Amino acid sequence: DFVMEETLFEEAKADELHKFLDESERKKSTMKQVRESLPIFKYRQQLLDAVENFQILIIVGETGSGKTTQLPQYLYEAGYCKDGKKIGCTQPRRVAAMSVAARVADEMGTKIGHEVGYAIRFEDCTSEKTRIKYMTDGMLLREFMTEPDLAGYSCLMIDEAHERTLHTDILFALVKDIARFRPDLKLLISSATMDAQKFSEYFDDAPIFKIPGRPYPVEIYNTKAPEANYLTAAVTTILQIHASQPKGDILVFLTGQDEIEQAMENLTVACRALGSKIAELIICPIYSNLPSELQAKIFDPTPEGARKVILATNIAETSITIDGVVYVIDPGFVKQNSYNPRSGIESLQVVACSRASASQRSGRAGRVGPGKCFRLYTQHAYMNELEDNTAPEILRVNLSSVVLTLKCLGINNLIKFDFMDPPSPELLKLALEQLYALGALNDKGEMTKMGRRMAEFPMDPMLSRALLASEKYDCANEMATIVSMLSVSGSVFYRPKDKKLFADRAHANFVITGGGDHLALLNCYNQFVDSGYNMQWCFENYVQYKSMTRARDTRDQLIALMERVEIYTKEASGEENSELTSRNLNPQEISSKSEDIRKSLTAGFFFNSAKLGKSKEGYSTVKRQHTVYIHPSSCLFEVKPQWVIYYELVLTSKEYMRQITEIDPKWLVELAPHFYSKQEIEDSSKRKMPITRK
Ligand code: ADP
Ligand code: MG
Repeated sequence: DFVMEETLFEEAKADELHKFLDESERKKSTMKQVRESLPIFKYRQQLLDAVENFQILIIVGETGSGKTTQLPQYLYEAGYCKDGKKIGCTQPRRVAAMSVAARVADEMGTKIGHEVGYAIRFEDCTSEKTRIKYMTDGMLLREFMTEPDLAGYSCLMIDEAHERTLHTDILFALVKDIARFRPDLKLLISSATMDAQKFSEYFDDAPIFKIPGRPYPVEIYNTKAPEANYLTAAVTTILQIHASQPKGDILVFLTGQDEIEQAMENLTVACRALGSKIAELIICPIYSNLPSELQAKIFDPTPEGARKVILATNIAETSITIDGVVYVIDPGFVKQNSYNPRSGIESLQVVACSRASASQRSGRAGRVGPGKCFRLYTQHAYMNELEDNTAPEILRVNLSSVVLTLKCLGINNLIKFDFMDPPSPELLKLALEQLYALGALNDKGEMTKMGRRMAEFPMDPMLSRALLASEKYDCANEMATIVSMLSVSGSVFYRPKDKKLFADRAHANFVITGGGDHLALLNCYNQFVDSGYNMQWCFENYVQYKSMTRARDTRDQLIALMERVEIYTKEASGEENSELTSRNLNPQEISSKSEDIRKSLTAGFFFNSAKLGKSKEGYSTVKRQHTVYIHPSSCLFEVKPQWVIYYELVLTSKEYMRQITEIDPKWLVELAPHFYSKQEIEDSSKRKMPITRK
C-alpha cells in the first residue's frame, strides 16, 4: 500500500511538473507569436543594422507598433549588454515605465527587477542583474548627478520624444553632449508623431527610421452643439455605445484621477439601474497614481459577451496601448501644468487638447480593426478652438527645479545651453530668482551649500527647502511625513457620495486647531502608524489604504535621502527606544509643535502666501495681488485665517489653493528676507484696517 501511494504521489508530481512545463512552454510560444506579430518585428534586422551604423537614430512609428517593448529587447538580444552594460529607456510617465517593464519582463520570462527593471521616483525596482532598465525621464536626469557620463549604459532610448516633457527636453541636450565623447554609446530617440524632422536636425541630422504602420480607418463623429458637461456626456456616450454598437472595447480620455473616479461612480450607478438589460460592462481606470496591482488589470482580455471600458488620462494617448479598443470617446481636454511668469502663478488647469492630441486619441480606435471616435465637441470647435500642437513643457512651466539640477551638474551658463526650444529669458530669470530666494544660489548665481543639499532630493525646490528647514526647527521626522503625504495627497481622503457626512466627520478628527491641512495630513499618518498600518483603520476613517502605504514607502526613501545630507530623523539617529520618541506625536504634541512645523513649511513655501481679502471670501497672493480661493476640501475652508501658505493652485471654476496652512505674516520676513520686506507685510496688513490715527 505504502509503496503504491508513494508511486502515485511521485506520478502526480511528475504530472504536475509536466503540466507546468507545458504551460510555460505554451506561454513562451504564444508570447513569441505575439511579439512577432507586431509591426516592428519585420524591421528588426534593419533596425539593428541602423543602430550598428549610426550612433544616433530617430525612430518614428505608430503607437502600438512595438517601439517601447521591443526595441530594448532587440538591442539586448543583439548583445549590447555583453560587457555588463545596461540599456536604458525613458518614459515621461511613471505608470508607463512600470507597466512596460512588467510586460517586457513577462515577454523575456524573467521576474521584474531581475534582467528587466524600472526606476521611478521613490521606487527603484532594479538589481545587479538588470540589463534593460525602464525609468522616468526625471530619473535618468538624476543619474547624471551620480554618473555624469552614464558609463553604465551602452544604449539609451529617449522614448515618447514627441511629448516634449521638461525632463525629456533637458535630457536631449545632455545625451547629445555625452554622445560626443562616448562614441560607443548608442542613442535612440523615438516618437509617435511624424514630425521627426525637428529631432533629426537637432541631433546633427541623425537618420530617421520610419516603422510603417497599418492602422485601420477610424470614423470620426462630432457633437452638433457644445456639451455643457463633458463628464455626463461621456458617461451617456459609453452607455449608448454599449447598448447599440457591435463588440469592441471603449477608451475614454479624461483629465485626472478625480474625474475618472467620478465617471466610474456614475457609470456603476447607471449600470446597476439598468441591471440585466445590458451586457456586462467592465470598468477599468488608469491614471498615474493607480496602485500597480490595478494597473495590470487594464490589459486583461475582455471575456466573451462582456465589454471593457477604459477610463484613462492622457497616458493612453501614446504611452500605453491597450489592445481591443474599437471605440474612443474624446471630450477634448487635458490637465496641464502652467506657469504665468508675470503673476508668478503656477497652476494645474484643464485646457482644450491640441489637434495633434485629438488625432492621436482617435487613432487608438483603429488598431485592431476599423473603429469609431466620438468627439464630445463640435466640428467648429475642432477647427477654431484647438491649437495645432501642445507647446513643449519647457516653454510654460516653472524651471527652478531643472535649473537647480543643471547648476548641480556644473552647467552655469544657461543662455548657452543647447535647448531644442529655449525657454524665455523671463522664465529662466524667474527660476534663478526663486532659487536665490530659497538660498540655493548666492547673489552671483552660484550654488550654495544649501543648494547642493536641496538638489539631493528629487522634488520641487520648495519642498526640499521645507524639508531642510526642519533641521533648524527640530521637526525632521514630522516634515518627512508631511512631504510624503503631500506626494500622494490627491488621494488620501476618501469621500463616497452616499457617505459624505460620515467621511467628513472622520476627516474632521484629523484636524489640529490652529494648524491646517498639512498638520491634518501629519496627524492622519501618525494615527495610521499607531494603528499598525491597519487596513481596517483606513476603512473606518475614510482614508485610502493604498495611498497611505505609498506615503509610507515614499517616507522610507526620503529618510534615506535625508541621512545622505545628514539630517537625522528619529529613525535614523536610532533614538526610537527612548521614551519620548518611541511613538509618533499625538494630536496634543503636534499642536504644541505646530509653530515649528509651520515655520519650517513657510521656509519653503513663502512664495505661495496669501492674505484674506476684505470680502472675507477670496484671498490675495501677497506679492502680486492675484485673487485665489480656499479649496472646499481644505480643513480651513470655513475657518478662513488671515494669512496662509498653500501647496498648490488648481484652476477649475476659480483659482483654488489646495493644502493650506495658517501662518503668522512675521514669519515671511523672518524666513525669506530676500523676498519680503517688513514694510510689504505691514502695509498690506494695515491697508485693511480703518485709519484712526492722525
Ligand atoms: P509603442 O511603444 O510602439 O507604442 P508598445 O511597445 O508599447 O508600442 O506596445 C506593443 C504591444 O505590447 C501593444 O500591442 C501593447 O498592447 C502590448 N503591451 C504593452 N504593455 C503591455 C502590458 N503591460 N500588458 C499586455 N500587453 C502590453
Ligand atoms: Mg511606446
